[in-house]
Amino acid sequence: GEIRLGMGSCCQASGSSDIYNELQRTSNELGIEVDIKSVGCVGVCNKVPLIDVVSEDGSIKRYPNVKASEIKEILHYHFKPAGYFTRLKNSLINRVDTYHTDLTWDNVIWKPENERTGLIDSFLASQKHISTEGFGYLAPLDLNEYRKHEGFDGLQKVLTDANPKQLVEDILNSGLRGRGGGGFPTGKKWEIVAASDKTDKYVICNGDEGDPGAFMDRMILESYPFRVIEGMVIAGYAVGANRGVFYIRAEYPLAVKRIQRALELCREQNLIGSNILGSDFSFDISIFEGAGAFVCGEETALIASIEGDRGFPKQRPPYPAVSGLHACPTLVNNVETLSQISYVIRNGVNTYNQIGTENSKGTKVFALAGKIKNGGLIEVPMGISLNQIIEEIGGGVEKDEKLKAVQIGGPSGGCIPANLCDVKVDFDAFNQMGAMMGSGGLVVLSEKDCMVDMARYFLTFTSEQSCGKCTFCRVGTKRMLDILDKLCSGKAQMEDIDKLEELAINVKRSSLCGLGKTAPNPVLTTLKYFREEYEEHVQGIC
Ligand code: SF4
Repeated sequence: GEIRLGMGSCCQASGSSDIYNELQRTSNELGIEVDIKSVGCVGVCNKVPLIDVVSEDGSIKRYPNVKASEIKEILHYHFKPAGYFTRLKNSLINRVDTYHTDLTWDNVIWKPENERTGLIDSFLASQKHISTEGFGYLAPLDLNEYRKHEGFDGLQKVLTDANPKQLVEDILNSGLRGRGGGGFPTGKKWEIVAASDKTDKYVICNGDEGDPGAFMDRMILESYPFRVIEGMVIAGYAVGANRGVFYIRAEYPLAVKRIQRALELCREQNLIGSNILGSDFSFDISIFEGAGAFVCGEETALIASIEGDRGFPKQRPPYPAVSGLHACPTLVNNVETLSQISYVIRNGVNTYNQIGTENSKGTKVFALAGKIKNGGLIEVPMGISLNQIIEEIGGGVEKDEKLKAVQIGGPSGGCIPANLCDVKVDFDAFNQMGAMMGSGGLVVLSEKDCMVDMARYFLTFTSEQSCGKCTFCRVGTKRMLDILDKLCSGKAQMEDIDKLEELAINVKRSSLCGLGKTAPNPVLTTLKYFREEYEEHVQGIC
């Protein structure tokens, strides 16, 4: 038998390490032979610690929110150690004595088939795992197991069959778009870097995720490090680069640790380094830890940071794809983007193309949070509606309150009101509404939430994170915040709302980098869809 236990950062924060220790201790005490396996993030954040008990016949029983005090009972039930039947008999007698009259041998022990399991099944039903392929059973640092499940087959395939030009074309044709926020076609970026005849080129994996409430990249790095490495090596082969850099924020220590170890293991099996898998292609990867500035997620600031400069964004062009790290052509792809590559290569462009909408292919990972019954980390096919995510996966709004809006894309995104939540997950559809996919934060808001407060919350964050290089972003966001503060304290006039809107439009138009250009989005979308709430603040109604 085998017991799988989620051990991502969130799982550990909820006590999974204690459960792991209890499983070890109790199985030893009972003399049970069972493999206790730490797997990656299990996604269902409000159901962890979560264990899956895999029986000899392969069937799985799932125990959500498991407590250390329940471990003994669960091990007894599944593995029936010596003394099990005596214990069961005693338990049966005790319970009959107290309140049961219809006990059988089967219903005396606390069993997994309860309503909590049903909730997890519906949480998983509409998901599709590409970035999170192997969800629930892959041990993050077991390279042999990853390879047993087609891991590095994509790399092997490109080194054997594909020339780099073909590979770039495949990624172009797959329709894959960057998952870091903007949705730029990934193949286009690859094409530009590949077209350069310079010999020194870089691939950078952007793991500087910093939006409040977003933890998609952290989860992928912690749980599927080999998949991201494989994507990076394939990208390096396609564009003709020999060096790669993981840029990971230092606040993600587990992700850094796992990538570090995963790189060592890959080096041992000749999956990175010189003459990879016996080919004439060499590619090595290092790690750079970011110091936590949100603006360093912007690629030119990120590159400046690696070069040892202050993380200031630069005017583009030149784009990093032409002149990036150390003035060399540099491909910067986000963690999630790179984690989709091996699937595209292994399954073919046509298979990938069938997932999603016309202009948004594949899947998207979201951090589902806010007023939702079942929050967590989810991966869904593009084209699913926000309502489906909320109802089918999330189980509906918490406490059965009424849905008011969904804030999508964190501080760079915008809010979508409830009556428009039949919108499909699609880069362009979100943009048309004034919101944007962003990196993938998805916060559900109920009728009890104040939209002005929500806009103020995100703007406080972006205003603090502004690097200060350009006036509109540095000063403009502060002035916007002043007006929002006035509104929230009931001291604003009606004309302040117009001023706020004008300022937001100008900050968006005139800022240099993505941070400033998108910072007004939460304000602009709430003004567009919930202007009456701003007016009620002036009138003192709320
Ligand atoms: Fe810095 Fe803001 Fe200007 Fe970006 S828009 S360069 S964050 S001041």
